[in-house]
Amino acid sequence: MKSLFANFSHLLAFVVVLLAANLLMAQKVRENSAGPGEKMVPTGDGHAVAAPAGPKGQAVVTGNGINYNGGPVLKNTVPIYIIWYGNWSGTGSNTQTTVNLIDSFIGGLSNSGYEKINSTYGDTTGNVSGAMTLVKQVFDTGSQGTKLRNSKISAAISAQLTSGGLPTDPNGVYLFLSSSNVSESGFCTQFCGFHTHQTLNGADIKWAFIGNVDRCPSGCEIQTTGPNSTAGSGGGADGMANVIAHETEEAISDPDLNAWFDSSGNENADKCNFRFGPTQTASNGAQFNQTLGGKDWMIQMNWENSRGGGCDQTLGGAFF
Ligand SMILES: [Zn+2]
Repeated sequence: MKSLFANFSHLLAFVVVLLAANLLMAQKVRENSAGPGEKMVPTGDGHAVAAPAGPKGQAVVTGNGINYNGGPVLKNTVPIYIIWYGNWSGTGSNTQTTVNLIDSFIGGLSNSGYEKINSTYGDTTGNVSGAMTLVKQVFDTGSQGTKLRNSKISAAISAQLTSGGLPTDPNGVYLFLSSSNVSESGFCTQFCGFHTHQTLNGADIKWAFIGNVDRCPSGCEIQTTGPNSTAGSGGGADGMANVIAHETEEAISDPDLNAWFDSSGNENADKCNFRFGPTQTASNGAQFNQTLGGKDWMIQMNWENSRGGGCDQTLGGAFF
């Protein structure tokens, strides 16, 4: 009996890993050189079933190059929770400076013209608001080691929920941000970040993985020195901010991977992946295209679901 059970557990774990691999949406690396495994679309694998019902409320607008697949979006002010994983008291960009910059960035995103692009997405009961708030962040110095895979990230997030380190909130987005000494299968080779959802501590938890992109500047950073990079720090914080914008837009407009994506499986931010539009030059020579919360940032555009659809830097702005 024991060995039977052990075999069953092993099989179950394998199935869970398979499901996890199929049920996440990833930001491709910069050159769009998708490797195997990048085709992680929610349709066609038999696991994520899009609701057959089409748009039926006033809130849902279609016909702009991206399709509504029947699932919910996250509405109201979206709570953000962060798990800083690994060594964030280290060198380069693995420091408290990055923590502070990302915290500031999330505050700056909320209700910005840029984030309001996401308010063009809705479900049958309402639209995305464009507001978010950082509710709580915790540090995990490495409970799952430095070689991560999805199941280990799940375990680390689950531990925070069950211990009460973070609240269990199905309406929030959990950002799992790892320091550059931490590897994650597929990170830097197939994707710069991804988001997914799964049942953790009894709730449908939406989470995203974003690694410190100083691990692979050529694949996941548009420039090695960003507008907020300090001497010797690398562009990690600036590059992570770009990936965080991408993944939060998707986690909010397609939280259960059954709401908004096009016929190729691309979610809104995927359709503008590493496309920035016009830029300006910061005092340190870096390019930027957004000023949020009093700081300059280089952030990819998002797909606006109105006016025929297109990538823009602010709601109602020019398409590039
Ligand atoms: Zn994406």
